[in-house]
Amino acid sequence: MTITVDREAGLLASVPTGLLINGQWQASASGKTLDVHDPATGKVLASIADGGSEDALAALDAASAAQAGWARTAPRVRGEILRKAFELVTERAEDFALLMTLEMGKPLGEARGEVAYGAEFLRWYSEEAVRDYGRYVTTPEGKNKILVQHKPVGPCLLITPWNFPLAMATRKVGPAVAAGCTMVLKPAKLTPLTAQLFAQVMQEAGLPDGVLNVVSGSSAAAISGPLLKDSRLRKISFTGSTAVGKQLMADATHNVLRTSMELGGNAPFIVFGDADLEAAVDGAMAAKMRNMGEACTAANRFLVHESVAGEFTAKLAERIGALTVGRGTEAGTDVGPMIEQKAREGIHALVTAAVADGATVLTGGDVVAGDGYFYQPTVLGNVPNDAAILGQEIFGPVAPVTTFKDEADAIRIANSTEYGLAAYVYTRDFSRLLRVSEQLEFGMVGFNAGVISNAAAPFGGVKHSGLGREGGSEGIAEYTTTQYIGIADPYA
Ligand code: NAD
Repeated sequence: MTITVDREAGLLASVPTGLLINGQWQASASGKTLDVHDPATGKVLASIADGGSEDALAALDAASAAQAGWARTAPRVRGEILRKAFELVTERAEDFALLMTLEMGKPLGEARGEVAYGAEFLRWYSEEAVRDYGRYVTTPEGKNKILVQHKPVGPCLLITPWNFPLAMATRKVGPAVAAGCTMVLKPAKLTPLTAQLFAQVMQEAGLPDGVLNVVSGSSAAAISGPLLKDSRLRKISFTGSTAVGKQLMADATHNVLRTSMELGGNAPFIVFGDADLEAAVDGAMAAKMRNMGEACTAANRFLVHESVAGEFTAKLAERIGALTVGRGTEAGTDVGPMIEQKAREGIHALVTAAVADGATVLTGGDVVAGDGYFYQPTVLGNVPNDAAILGQEIFGPVAPVTTFKDEADAIRIANSTEYGLAAYVYTRDFSRLLRVSEQLEFGMVGFNAGVISNAAAPFGGVKHSGLGREGGSEGIAEYTTTQYIGIADPYA
């Protein structure tokens, strides 16, 4: 089924185009607007308000004013707003999916998957809102008492990337609402429309004015800069590249902010000689090709035991070579466009350099001519271990395959990166899985599984992949602060 132009136009016309400040959708102080493009065609989809420093501070005024009342709002009430939001997002799943496909490019089927995944954070945190436990214990000396309670950390700045426009927002907004924090959300300038629609849904779900403010804009630093210098802001939660994350961490020292950083990855996908190869290829397809490879958890390096490398690589090349590239709204599309021209150029430069280093192109290897920023799904064999493509986040539909000799070799190669987000291990030997996982310096390990993201699980990385966790019971702790009250002996 091809989406009709009318359906697209109707949906785009329904998305709020202003900044959301204190419950009001409004123009930016500068009056400027920002165009949002369809990466499949390069055409303008919509123009929205282009927020700047003044707007960001007005949003923080609203968040700050709403904080005390929101913190006192019953956890059940906060939870029920999230539950209602889950239902509204689910009811409007087709709208959210189409909007994401239009502004980001992913195939509609994948966009539907993201709606389900993204909505799940709202449902999960609607349940967690009433389960934030403190403790009351007697000191070891047996006289005094220890009372520990959690309080909302305070107004938060939430910065999200373009690759998962809904889920990256709900993964932050869900726990912040549950914990009783107010927010300024700054979506990526390439994909702000989904966040705008989501914020409207949060309003419909009953979120009080000022709790969630949204400031989209062409200059991220103009929005985040003054907020990071303002002592009313108490936390920054950022998802994006490691380079920007490091800068924001440095800036966050000014007011000693709580920081959560979900940064880049360089996931190894390790296939041992005893693995079920069919399952490994299925997992590889998901881990590599989901979101056109534009995922922080995307398999970035295939490390395959030399005894099965030939067979695995041939099967992978056959499957990847059979994928259909096209506009995400077209039926049958497996792989949509890259987000922008610059991104596609970067991917092609990595492929070209790998080939110059000795890699063999087994399928793909070039840009797709014509409109939009499409890149051929690509498999590279015989990639030398020191090739740049193995050391950097590719963020595209390119699978470089390299080999290893034994378990120790696989672990050494896998860990030879500054990143530490996700790793994948395919083996039939559970003891090996436990042994290898313990030694892998990664925040998450997929065991015979190519997709591991789940709202109930703690998502996050180590080393340069970040700090903190999103999802699970860990996710709400990022938005609370611990207060200890020391109580004198009540018998004295
Ligand atoms: P990016 O760092 O360029 O941008 C992310 C966000 O930060 C955007 O909203 C952007 O406008 C904003 N930003 C950019 N410069 C800024 C500045 N100086 N000050 C404040 N904000 C600024 O990343 P991207 O290209 O949008 O996203 C891709 C990156 O995100 C990849 O590295 C990917 O691995 C990472 N990512 C990580 C996770 C995770 O959970 N670990 C999830 C998705 C994406």
